[in-house]
Amino acid sequence: MINFTCAQCGQAMSVPDEMAGQSGKCKQCGAPVRVPGINTAEAFQPDQTPPISSEQKQSPWKQNINPIGCLVMIGILLFFGYTCSRILTPSEETKQKIQEEKKWGSPTMAYQMSQEFVKQRLKSPGSADFPFLDFTATQTKNKGEFLVKGYCDAQNAFGAKIRVDYTCTMKCQNERWSCTNLKINER
Ligand SMILES: [Zn+2]
Repeated sequence: MINFTCAQCGQAMSVPDEMAGQSGKCKQCGAPVRVPGINTAEAFQPDQTPPISSEQKQSPWKQNINPIGCLVMIGILLFFGYTCSRILTPSEETKQKIQEEKKWGSPTMAYQMSQEFVKQRLKSPGSADFPFLDFTATQTKNKGEFLVKGYCDAQNAFGAKIRVDYTCTMKCQNERWSCTNLKINER
């Protein structure tokens, strides 16, 4: 005997083996039904279908994702998150460093401030053109004291553009800058 159910209404039916593969009507709802063949029925026995793991059945989209790749991605995201949070919220150490620099200055600040003092000595301060990066500013052994060497291009008394080299000692104390030993040398 072949046991099968109607696809339409689910009515269980059982017919002799000789009717395998034949068509008929469901005795319950009248929908056309086909008696499964013996061979066909065998082909769909569970032990012959390719094994599908329960994980794949539950979430088929997961099968193409490499778990190691996932971990690497999470690692990268965490790293960027950490870096961003460090930039956006400076640590106590960074805050302290910023406070210290404000109070005692930094080589870059020393150079920027030195430009103002040099301009005061120039014939036409408005024409002075200082390079952004071409300078040396070194911290001396005294806190808040920097030796600055730089140059600028400025107009002399005759309106000609000349290059002016200078050295000076810049001092910063409690955010106040002073300039000593300013030596200006026109080339
Ligand atoms: Zn039926």
